[in-house]
Amino acid sequence: MSSNPVELMLRCVERVSRNLSKLIFEDLHNPNKTTSSTTNQNTAITVEKSSPVTKEDLGRATWTFLHTLGAQYPDAPTRQQKRDVKELMSILSRMYPCKDCADHFQQLLKTNPVQVGSHAEFSQWLCHVHNVVNRSLGKLKFPCERVDARWGKLECEQHTCDLHGDLTDFKNERH
Ligand SMILES: Cc1cc2nc3c(=O)[nH]c(=O)nc-3n(C[C@H](O)[C@H](O)[C@H](O)COP(=O)(O)OP(=O)(O)OC[C@H]3O[C@@H](n4cnc5c(N)ncnc54)[C@H](O)[C@@H]3O)c2cc1C
Repeated sequence: MSSNPVELMLRCVERVSRNLSKLIFEDLHNPNKTTSSTTNQNTAITVEKSSPVTKEDLGRATWTFLHTLGAQYPDAPTRQQKRDVKELMSILSRMYPCKDCADHFQQLLKTNPVQVGSHAEFSQWLCHVHNVVNRSLGKLKFPCERVDARWGKLECEQHTCDLHGDLTDFKNERH
């Protein structure tokens, strides 16, 4: 098992997006489904036969993750945060579980190096590369001046959702 935090996070994101996509797919396609569920205090855990995740489900879940990360990316990121985001994009371009998409994204990173200098830079860069993918799929271009209105930070109490390194961890690394 790798101890690389970015890889661990990516794996975790994959698992969460797979489960989310499955739930969405099942709700859309079988609203009257019967499920077996185990109740543990307030949490109902449903155990069902797995359904296929489509490229579209995976894409939507991944873009949600990336744009939310963009929304929370600080105005003045630390060196570590800049390194992590670059590494995350690089890992995504190798390990994204749709090979065609990963290959496409890898090419895209070569011609559009990831911009990590600030929240504005990173969220606009994400919007731009998402638009490049949109264009290749014949979809409409998203107006990037509206990206902050479309994608917000997670609502969490007492900064519990702040990015790693926002409060104290990398205080001394700013430059
Ligand atoms: C890195 C990556 C590479 C991909 N490569 C491919 C590929 O090569 N081939 C393929 O078939 N699929 C690919 N996909 C999936 C594809 O991009 C879509 O996610 C999928 O087709 C579903 O599209 P959608 O129309 O539901 O909305 P999505 O494109 O998934 O977008 C989700 C939501 O984001 C918002 N949005 C749209 N554009 C932007 C933007 N530019 N900036 C900010 N917000 C925006 C909209 O509100 C939209 O509803 C890729 C996904 C990712 C994450």
